[in-house]
Order: sequence, then C-alpha cells, then structure tokens
Amino acid sequence: MRNSPYGFDTLAVHAGAAPDPTTGARITPIYQTAAYVFDDADHAASLFNLQEFGNIYGRISNPTVSVLEEKIAALEGGRSALAVGSGHAAQMIAMFGLLNPGDEFIASNKLYGGSVTQFGVSFKKMDWHCNFVDPTDIKAFKRAITEKTKAIFLEALANPGGIVVDIEKVAAIAHDAGIPLIVDNTMATPYLCRPIEWGADIVVHSATKFLDGHGNSLGGVVVDSGRFNWAQNDKFPSLTQPSEAYHGLTFSETFGDLAYTVYNRAVGLRDLGPTLSPFNAFQILTGMETLGIRMERHCANALKVAKFLEGHKKVSWVSYAGLAKNKYRRLARKYLPGGAGAVFTFGLKGGYQAGLKLVERVEIFSHLANIGDTRSLIIHPASTTHRQLSEEQGIAAGAGPDVVRLSIGIENAEDLIADLQDALK
Ligand SMILES: *Cc1c(COP(=O)(O)O)cnc(C)c1O
Repeated sequence: MRNSPYGFDTLAVHAGAAPDPTTGARITPIYQTAAYVFDDADHAASLFNLQEFGNIYGRISNPTVSVLEEKIAALEGGRSALAVGSGHAAQMIAMFGLLNPGDEFIASNKLYGGSVTQFGVSFKKMDWHCNFVDPTDIKAFKRAITEKTKAIFLEALANPGGIVVDIEKVAAIAHDAGIPLIVDNTMATPYLCRPIEWGADIVVHSATKFLDGHGNSLGGVVVDSGRFNWAQNDKFPSLTQPSEAYHGLTFSETFGDLAYTVYNRAVGLRDLGPTLSPFNAFQILTGMETLGIRMERHCANALKVAKFLEGHKKVSWVSYAGLAKNKYRRLARKYLPGGAGAVFTFGLKGGYQAGLKLVERVEIFSHLANIGDTRSLIIHPASTTHRQLSEEQGIAAGAGPDVVRLSIGIENAEDLIADLQDALK
C-alpha cells in the first residue's frame, strides 16, 4: 500500500467497498435481510451487550448500509458515520445524542425550509429549543449561547439563498463554549467542501440529493469527526453518564472517538427507528461513485446558466456565489474552491405571478421539490417548499415572493439556457 492518501474520486469508487468475501461479487450486494444468525449463545450475548460489533437486527445495522457509512466517512474525512432513512432523520438522530428535554441549540436562519420547521416547530414537542440567528453576523452565534446550548447547526452552502457561512469562525465560537458544530453539507457535498477540515465536529447530509444524485432514493447520514471531547464538561450526559439501557455502560469511556456514532446507532436508531433500507443504500452507493465528475459538471453548468440569467432584462438579481459580483465570492473561494454548487436562486421582476408562470413554461426543467438530480429542476419556493413559513421567515431564508430556485443538472448547458430563454419570453 502506498503512504499518501487516495484522491477524492478514488475514494468515491473504492472506500468501504471490497469484493464480497463469500461469492466474489465485485459490487456491494443488497443484503435484503431483516435479521442475522448468531454463532452461538455467547456470541448473541456479547453483541447485545455491545462487547462485540456485529449484526443483530436490520433496524440497527446492515452490511450494504455499512459500506455507505464507510464511504461517506472517508469522503468527509470523518472517523465514523451512521446512515439513516432521510436527511431529516439524520438531523433528528444527530440531535437526539446531544439534547435532553429543556436543552437548546442554535441554528442559522438560512436553512432548507423543512429544517426550519423541524427545528422550530416539531422539536419543541421534545422540549428541544432552537434559537435561529443570521449566519452572516458571526457574533450572533456567540450572543445566542446560553448555559443550555448544546450545539450550533448551519449549512455550509445554504439552501436556497446560496449563502456561504464562515465555518471556521463559527467552529471557534462553538469550541470556546464547549459544544460541537454540526454542518449540513448536503448542498456543497464533500467534493466541494469538507467541513471537518475547517473545524466542524459533525456533518449531516440528505443523501437524497447529490450523494445519490439521480433523484431515486431517500437517505441521510450523520458523520462524526471523532475529534470532539464529550467528557470536557457535563453537557452531554447521554455520552458521558452510565446508560441504563446498557447495564451502566458509559459510551465515551467504552468507545472513545466512536462514542457518538455508537450511541446514535445503539440508542438513537434502535429506539427511534428511522432505518435506511439496503436497497436505497445500494442506489446511493452507485450514485456516490460518480459524485466528483457529476459535481464538476453541475458547477460548470450552474455558472453558465447564472451568467445568462444575470444578463437577462426580466431578472432583477441572481444569487450564485460563483459569480464575480456575488457578496459571498470571497468565502466561496475559501470554502468551495471547486465551484459554488448546482443550486441557486434568482429574482423575477414580475414577482410572485411571474414565478408561477415560469415554472409552468419550462420544458427541460422539471417543476418539483428536490435538488441534486442529474436532471435540471425548478421551483418557486414561496408557493411550495417555504409556504409554511411566514413571509418574514421566507425572506430571511432567501425565499421571498419573487424568488425562483434552480437545481442545475448535468445536461448540455446550451439546452438549459435556451429552455429558460424561451420560458422567460
Ligand atoms: C432535502 C434537505 C434536507 C432534508 O433531507 P430529506 O432527505 O428530504 O429528509 C435537509 N437539508 C437540506 C439542505 C436539504 O436539501
């Protein structure tokens, strides 16, 4: 074996995936089974006691899913990962390991609309409280920290506003307060940005988007850097206090830098149950092999389309961090050197009604609520993904009434531009 680390595309193809030892199958098989046979009674007991790693039951682990976990951990530069049934499940599991009733966390207010609702409305039912702050005001994170704050959450590249957050500065604020930084890296993907290299402790993904890349499967992952010291304070009792569910075992002592992922699996996934199906894991694994070459094309196409829109008379503004005049250009150069992603928004001079008309007139673009597909996608957030938010929250999240969001696919850029040109007429 050579000493230097493998490049991104080599890892995307090979990390986690060896030929099947019993059949020689080169591609990771779909292990479509609900449960696994124990060697004997002692083996069963040690698995249930977490004295030995191994498969017990499909809610908790699956060999196809494990390959996905190893691959994403390698691509993000993390220590370990847990894959779950969707991006929202990943966010729930990520918080479940950190928060107790009455606890708080801080989140950027520039987030995917569904995350704003999950954090601001549904999490309250568990007595978890989210304080939203403007991520372009770095000091706002510091001001929002209280005794009960257990984490900071942000999107590296924010959906849908195209906002790039200064991850390194927010990580420093989190670490000063003895709490982890969680980054949703769905939009950037590890091809464009690896938040752990900038100080993030936990990375979450909606694997539904660019990791899968073909719009065919839901999935989510929680990646742990393995670097956060849970025992530095008494804020994380789930990880540092004896667990009543496992005969008094303490996760941070027993599992060291794997503690968070083992807890997320052995307690979070076991008891909340949002398991990823092995079939979906297989689809996502196939998609991830081409992540690098897809992202390259996605970014090149997005820049061409953004430049076209910037020069169009019916367009009032284009928010794409790859454009020379964009206010996030400097941060994008630092955090997203390979390109500013595939998703961006622009404003129509005709407002809400013009947005509705445009999504109906395009032909190549599909009008739907998703991003990160090979196909180009279009949506008018104010009438769809962000309609649960008040107009004020919508504007804060970059989804005002005139806003149209594009997720640029890997088709020929000239065809995409011609489609938009015709529809704008
Ligand atoms: C889609 C999305 C989510 C939620 O993921 P699901 O897989 O749909 O549950 C979270 N964050 C971002 C940035 C997303 O785009």
